[in-house]
Amino acid sequence: MKALVHTAPFKFEIRDVPVPTPQENEVRIRVQAVGICGSDVHGYTGTTGRRIPPIIMGHEASGVVDEVGRAVTGVAPGERVTFDSTVYCNHCPACRLGKVNLCQTRKIVGVSTPTFHADGAMAEYVVVPSWIIHKLPAAVSFEEAAMIEPAGVGMHAARITPIDVNDVVVVVGAGQIGLLTGQGARIKGAGTLVFMDVKEDRLAFAKKMGADFVVNTATGDPAEALRKAIGRPDADVVFEAVGVEATVAMSLRLTKLGGNLTLIGNVTPQIQMNLQEIVSREVTIRGSAAIAGEYPACLNYIAQGRLEVKPLISRILPLTEGQASFDALHHGEPGLMKILLRP
Ligand SMILES: [Zn+2]
Ligand SMILES: [Zn+2]
Repeated sequence: MKALVHTAPFKFEIRDVPVPTPQENEVRIRVQAVGICGSDVHGYTGTTGRRIPPIIMGHEASGVVDEVGRAVTGVAPGERVTFDSTVYCNHCPACRLGKVNLCQTRKIVGVSTPTFHADGAMAEYVVVPSWIIHKLPAAVSFEEAAMIEPAGVGMHAARITPIDVNDVVVVVGAGQIGLLTGQGARIKGAGTLVFMDVKEDRLAFAKKMGADFVVNTATGDPAEALRKAIGRPDADVVFEAVGVEATVAMSLRLTKLGGNLTLIGNVTPQIQMNLQEIVSREVTIRGSAAIAGEYPACLNYIAQGRLEVKPLISRILPLTEGQASFDALHHGEPGLMKILLRP
């Protein structure tokens, strides 16, 4: 089969590789669409240690079941599916609690580290364990289904964060995950949804996606902008979807007394935070990692039209455009959101 193989930092090759064979509890999928994740783009620079070449990336995908292992029940060839990006073990304490994103032996599809290697979906076929498969409702297209994984990340962050009806919710970082988190917050009842970013093209996009208002934090004081727009300088809930010190500090300042701050971005591993501000203002800070059971919710909301992922798809290209697509995303081409590849 043809596969887009990451062979060295910044490099891909289209290679002919053997079609993978499903083991007894695995399912082989003929891939129809696969998204390029921000983490893939970060990974191809060679700086993360999580895409050690050679690796076939791709953890945001959809397709048709092609073959199932001997012990697989409940999913059959011909069915339209997507799958969880986390390969969880399904029996450790975390998995038994439904916190599959925290599985002690988890692997991520399309990721290679010094301890594991799992080829992903930027190829004609991908093999995954049967228990991470989700069937697609008829109303959900393959392209939309390839967006379920990032949508799930946003939905998970919204789900674990207390959001009351009519709350003011600020999302710092209007990238894909930020925008999808905002939609999750809206579904949970957020009354006023504000996006903050330093890029005008992203803010314009956020407006198009239903933001009540947007703030360019490069040009003004965000607290002052909030005060002007809603009469108060803070938010009930802040989501941080960037992950660097300056935006985390800003997010903390914008969280109201006793409010909730959920951290999704983690670009900078170590940052400094104002401890006094956290303690004396009794802010609850939580991390949000990946997805823990939000796939069915996202599939349902997309099928109902309540979660919109299509506007985030900028391009749909053949696998042979993989290298150029990664390069365009890496260079931050203005207005570019999700690129889907069609193997
Ligand atoms: Zn991803
Ligand atoms: Zn587990």
